[in-house]
This record gives sequence, C-alpha cells and structure tokens, in this order.
Amino acid sequence: MTNTNDQRLRGISVEIDPARCIANAKCTVAAPGIYVLDEETGVAVLEHQDEATLEQLFAGARACPTQAIIISQLGRRVFPQILTPMFGEPPE
Ligand code: SF4
Repeated sequence: MTNTNDQRLRGISVEIDPARCIANAKCTVAAPGIYVLDEETGVAVLEHQDEATLEQLFAGARACPTQAIIISQLGRRVFPQILTPMFGEPPE
C-alpha cells in the first residue's frame, strides 16, 4: 500500500488465508474489484489495495463464511476476533 493509503487505513493490513478460502466469491460481491478470485488458484486475492477503503475491506471480511479474510491493525488482529476452528482433513 502507498504511504497515503496506509495513513488513511491507519495501519490496517489484510491477509487472505488460502487454506480457509472455499472460493464462493462472497467477498468479491461485497467489495467488487477489491477482492477477486485468482483465475489459476480459485482463491480470493486482494486487488487495487491502494484504492480500497476500510469499509470495502471489512465488508469483504464480514461476508466471508469461513473467516478466511483476516484484518490486522499495526500487527494486531482486529477481525475476526476469534477464529472458528477448521474441520475436515487438514490441507496438504
Ligand atoms: S468470501 Fe471467503 S471463502 Fe469466499 S472467496 Fe472470499 S475469502 Fe474465499
């Protein structure tokens, strides 16, 4: 992110956990053009981070049913506050 946007976003950073992403595109509907599905992997990725607003970043994260989108501020997780456990076979 650019310095300007980093100041606007107050140290917010976004991580998308590919192991939790089930590629159902909910985040891409909630924040189109910011969250997109990678054509090769099918996993959600962030695009146009420099233009993203806090509202868009959080809208995508809230829409995610598997809590794959994790938002931190200055290195401290702010969303989701508690990650639900993952079930099923562990990823290889
Ligand atoms: S809403 Fe969550 S699970 Fe669905 S594509 Fe986005 S990050 Fe992946």
